[in-house]
Formats: sequence, structure tokens, C-alpha cells
Amino acid sequence: MPTMRHVLSLTICLSLTICLSLTICVTAGLAFTACTRDITPPKGTQAVASAPTKKAKTQKPPRDPRKDLHLIDSHVHLTPLPGPMRLALRLFAEIRVDKFAVKSAGNPGTPRYAATLRWAQRLGDRMAFFTNIDWEDIDKPTWAKREADKIERAMKDGASGIKIFKALGLGVRLKDGSLVKVDDPRLDPIFKRCEKTGAIVAWHVADPVAFFKPTTPKNERYAELSLAPDWSFYGKDYPSHEALLAARDRVIAKFPKVTFLGIHFANYPESLTYVAKTLDRFPNLYIDISARVPEIGRHPVAKLKALFTRYQRRILFGTDLIITPRGMQLGSVAKNGPPGYDDAVRYYQVHRRFFETADKNFDHPTPIQGDWKINGIDLPLSVLKNIYRDNAERLIFAKRHAFVARQRTTTRPAPGHTPRPTTHPTPTGK
Ligand SMILES: [Zn+2]
Repeated sequence: MPTMRHVLSLTICLSLTICLSLTICVTAGLAFTACTRDITPPKGTQAVASAPTKKAKTQKPPRDPRKDLHLIDSHVHLTPLPGPMRLALRLFAEIRVDKFAVKSAGNPGTPRYAATLRWAQRLGDRMAFFTNIDWEDIDKPTWAKREADKIERAMKDGASGIKIFKALGLGVRLKDGSLVKVDDPRLDPIFKRCEKTGAIVAWHVADPVAFFKPTTPKNERYAELSLAPDWSFYGKDYPSHEALLAARDRVIAKFPKVTFLGIHFANYPESLTYVAKTLDRFPNLYIDISARVPEIGRHPVAKLKALFTRYQRRILFGTDLIITPRGMQLGSVAKNGPPGYDDAVRYYQVHRRFFETADKNFDHPTPIQGDWKINGIDLPLSVLKNIYRDNAERLIFAKRHAFVARQRTTTRPAPGHTPRPTTHPTPTGK
């Protein structure tokens, strides 16, 4: 039982505690008021204190993430010598091309092929390559097997497939002087071997429609044809543009298990209707945009945007950049001599302006390819990711990556090949 004395002590204690607490509170309160007063900005400087809010309102919009996308150039031609290769690597570092596919590795057994292979081994999965066909002796019954065997060998070396130049249909001739047809059945063993080995067939058939029309000032590519007269396929015994593409399409239909890459926008950038129809018809067909932004850029923006959106997983970015010891070529011949390094940077920048902006009426990447302006198509990030990188990654570089990984686990380097001279056509990129 608490005594009276205890109760008195307790009361005093409680009173003291309350007093002390009050004192602390009041002191702290005063101190807080003082602090608050101290940090209150003087009149006229209040705008500074509230600056972050106002600043946020006037801040520039966040950086467009499309501008940060790195590229894969799925279509280049690089002479496998230190000069051109170093120049290409310097350019690619500046314009953020992470990976690239060389479409002119040459024919297995040639010095060009051996040198390209060495660069591919050095650069690993940054560089893919496509081998080319040697047309010599095409009249001989052993020719197709010889070339098919070389494709198989190239695939074992890590090639992604073959690139067939426009020479087939427009340049390669039989002994009797006639042009070899694009769908000549003597090529069938080659396509069968591509099916067996998984080799992609990157195919350049025909050329711009204007190249099949008379070279007169009325021709929309007159300036270009005047500088490169051998690009004209008007008259003589040349098949028509339509006949060439129809023959190509018969081959694609005949080999549904082969993956075809219709370069230069399936070689009919003048007709979006044809391109869409052909992509619908052949699920084994992909296309690239190389050297054809001038052509496609003059179509109505909405129509073009719809096509890129619909087929966003089947269109690959590529430029057809050519670097040789003699200089560069950016999609076509140039009026004032070979272009320089800065022109090459600009070439890529204009491609990006076309895809990433809604700018109107600007110069296309290769002004000589027609005297008209183009409009940007302002593709969304998700579509651009597919076109700039992911499609090439899936189609070309996934396999290349797996090949390089397998090579790393083996100690022996890929077998070398005895070089022998060849007469295969010099790649022109056209
Ligand atoms: Zn090319």
C-alpha cells in the first residue's frame, strides 16, 4: 500500500517531468521556428527556392530513345585489306554500327574469300559474311555440284549464306552467248544445298525500273545512267524488269524451305503493292532497304509507314556501303568523285532522319539516284528496333554467334584454303 509520503513524491516527480517536457518542447519549438526563419529566403529570392518546379515545366522533352538505338548494317561490301577494313571499323564506331554483314566474301578458294574469312575470324560475331558464286564453266554438267560443295564448305567456315549478284539474268552467259536465266534449272542443286545447309540466299535480281528504259533526259535516273552507262539494261537481249522478278519468284516458290533475302527492297521499291503482295505470298522471304531509301522515300508516308509496321519483322536495315582501296561508294556513283569519310557519316545520318523523323522534303541519302526529295516516316521505337537490329540478329547473327561460340571451344583454327585465282564478277553493289 502506498503511503501518503509515496503519493506526494510521485506527484512531485510527475509535475517535474511535465515541466521539463514542456520546457524541451517550447525550446525545440522556438529553435524550429528560428531554423525555419533562417532558411526562409529573403524577399525577391523566393523564385530561386521554387525554381525546380518552374524549371521542370520549361525543361527540354526527354531524349528520343530512337536516337540511342545502335544499328546492324546487314548489307556492306568491304575489301578485306587493312586500309578499307580499318576505315570501315572507324566509321562503324562513330555511327554506332555494332555488327555488319559483308555480302561479297568472294568464292571459296579465292584470295578474297580467304582474306575475308581471316577478318571474320578476327572480328568474331561482329562480322557476318555471305559467299559468292563462280559462274565460270556454268555450261559444264559438274558446275552446279562444284559450287554447291563450296557453299557447304563456306557454311562450315561460318558463312551466313550466299549472295547472288544481278549478273545472273543480266550478265552471265552460256557458251552460245545467251544469258543464263534467273530460274535456269541448272541452279537447282545450289538452292537444294542452301536448303540442306541453312544458307540464306541474298538475291539481287534486276535493278531500278528506270535502268530498263531508254537513257534520255526524260529518264528519271538520267544523271546516274550518264555516269554509269553500263547500268542500263534497255534493249539488246535483256529480259524486262517484270520478267526477271517473275523468274526470281518462281524459284522462291520452288524452294519454300530456303530463306531468301530480297535485297534492295525485293528489287521493286517502285511498287509497294508488289512488295507487300510478294511478302504475303512467300513466308520464306525477307527484304532489305539497302540503297533504296531514295526510291521508297517518295511514296506517301502513311502507305510506307503501314508497310514497315505490318512487315516489321521481315525488313532489314542495310546500306550497301562499299569500301575498296580506291574509295567508297554510298549507294551509287557520285558526281564529284568518290565520297569522303564525312559523306559516309552523313549517309547514315540521312537514313536515320528518314526513319526517325517526320521531316518533309529533304535530300535523300544518294542525290544522284533521282532528282526528288523524300519525307521522313517517323517509325515508333518498337518497329525501329526490329528493322535496325533485331531482324538481322535473328536471321543472320544468332547463327553466327553460335558458330563463334563453338569455335572458341575448339583449339584448332578454321581450316585455311589454298587460294586460286578466279574470274568471278567484281561486286558492284548494284
Ligand atoms: Zn550490295
